Amino acid sequence: MTRGQRGVVLRIERTSIHDGVGLRTVVFLKGCPLSCIWCSTPESQNSFHERGYISSRCRGCGACVEVCPADALALQADQVIHNTNLCQHCLACVDICVADAVTSFGRWMHISEVMAEIAKDEVFYFHSGGGVTISGGECLQQSDFTAEILRRCARLGIDSTVETSLHTPWKNVEKIVSHLSCIYIDLKHPDPHKHKYLVGVDNHLILTNLEKLNNLEQPLEIQLRIPLIPGINDSDDSMQQAAEIANRLNKVSRIEILPYHRLGVTTYDTLQRGYALPDMQTPNAEYVEEKRVVLQKFLKNVEAISSR
Ligand code: SF4
Ligand code: SF4
Repeated sequence: MTRGQRGVVLRIERTSIHDGVGLRTVVFLKGCPLSCIWCSTPESQNSFHERGYISSRCRGCGACVEVCPADALALQADQVIHNTNLCQHCLACVDICVADAVTSFGRWMHISEVMAEIAKDEVFYFHSGGGVTISGGECLQQSDFTAEILRRCARLGIDSTVETSLHTPWKNVEKIVSHLSCIYIDLKHPDPHKHKYLVGVDNHLILTNLEKLNNLEQPLEIQLRIPLIPGINDSDDSMQQAAEIANRLNKVSRIEILPYHRLGVTTYDTLQRGYALPDMQTPNAEYVEEKRVVLQKFLKNVEAISSR
């Protein structure tokens, strides 16, 4: 089979206003090389489709335990215990559960299925100036699939872009960049040591790729995005360092601050994983604006905005 024909898609969100210009279809792909402690989509981190469990819905019938071919499930006090080391991700437990207590995150999709979903929104692109955004997880974990979606969108005259951390070999960036006029890049923390502590890897590869992107001859707008996590990357020093990175890159037009939110917190329970920031609160609008003003103060020809 030709490369890039199938991929593991977490979900496809229609008429989004958050991920680019106009109304957008956002294709979220599964798999991410980072493990940000504040991650709001933990279900996107693993590259395979996986099982989630909503304990409050479970009736303790044991049907999933019986059907599991890997002995990965056990009943204890009417609740199902999942051994992730044994799980083969076959999702037989999802199909058998009549209580909707077991759910699945992600599924294999053929490129034609993804394009069929995109086609449903074409009328919105026309009226809003929107298009398609490929996000994740880290969409460049599935770089061939991402490139194929972009290539097909270009053929149809649909504007498309990607949101990426750039923590990926440069050859993956090369596969996609010719299809882009604008790219969104997450800047988690400007300091390499803190980046490693908070995200699991330092930011050397990301900053190297960012510089290579900036030095390409093709016209390309780069927009940076900072997830604003109170007490973690919101100091004036962090803002100044982030601004210094942006000021060095002439293709960067804008930095967008994305305030921390808690929308994904319950998903950690569903995945039966712990969350590192149980007491973190969503910052209020005044705080976010204060940080935006600080960031703007350090920027030269780059606009600082905030959203969400
Ligand atoms: S099949 Fe569903 S309801 Fe029955 S034990 Fe498994 S998760 Fe619970
Ligand atoms: S996904 Fe398959 S292997 Fe994993 S727990 Fe469910 S039935 Fe068992």
